Amino acid sequence: MIRFIAILVAAVLLPWAAAAQPCPGNRQALGTERVLEVDANSTRRVGRKQFPGTLPLSPKELVLTFDDGPWPTTTPKVLDSLKRECVKATFFLLGRNVEAHPQIVRRELAEGHSLGHHTFSHPLLRYMPLAKARAEIYRGIAADEFALYGERRSDPAAPFFRFPGFVPSPALLGYLQDRGIVVFGADVWASDWLPMTPDQELHLLLSRIETVGRGIVLLHDTKAQTAHMLPAFLRALKQRGYRIVHVVPSPSRRIVN
Ligand SMILES: [Zn+2]
Repeated sequence: MIRFIAILVAAVLLPWAAAAQPCPGNRQALGTERVLEVDANSTRRVGRKQFPGTLPLSPKELVLTFDDGPWPTTTPKVLDSLKRECVKATFFLLGRNVEAHPQIVRRELAEGHSLGHHTFSHPLLRYMPLAKARAEIYRGIAADEFALYGERRSDPAAPFFRFPGFVPSPALLGYLQDRGIVVFGADVWASDWLPMTPDQELHLLLSRIETVGRGIVLLHDTKAQTAHMLPAFLRALKQRGYRIVHVVPSPSRRIVN
């Protein structure tokens, strides 16, 4: 009974304990509030921009995600900003860029971020023959896994995938589900593929986040304007009482051979 109570108390206190972790050199850091394990057996698709449901987040909880990297002139700046604020994010990698800059994804891994997949060369998969689309997905995964872990696995360590251009097809969604891979959409984005100043992007994104109140935020670590606005964005989230959730794969996920 005492053991049960101890476990219960630990379970209740854990999120606060995580929040209390000091951030070296920055007492005002945004920090990472908690870790959320995502199990592919129970979570297939998340993000209300594309799908009916999203991650189980409380009000003012955000998951930060970055697509299309790594990119040598911008991703290191994004990583520096995240590190300064002790924020953990998820990167959806482009295999082509990973092959060109493997040291940057190894830094992402070393700094505790989650590494998901985003194809090899960013085609719009819905408009390709199914076999070609599947090959493109796995070419990306294999390139990412090789740079990260030294092995060209088709069964990724983090079974997280995002469709380029947010254009899935029912056949590919079914295929990824069968392979135990969670498809990430988004709940809010910065539209950072459009040219705008960092300040314009900051205000647009903050106003959109205030509207949705919680969710998965989509950014691109390949965009200079995003890398530039990130420090002010993270400080603004702290001031407005938002909290960061780090998504990681469930250790109990199904292994597919
Ligand atoms: Zn993309």
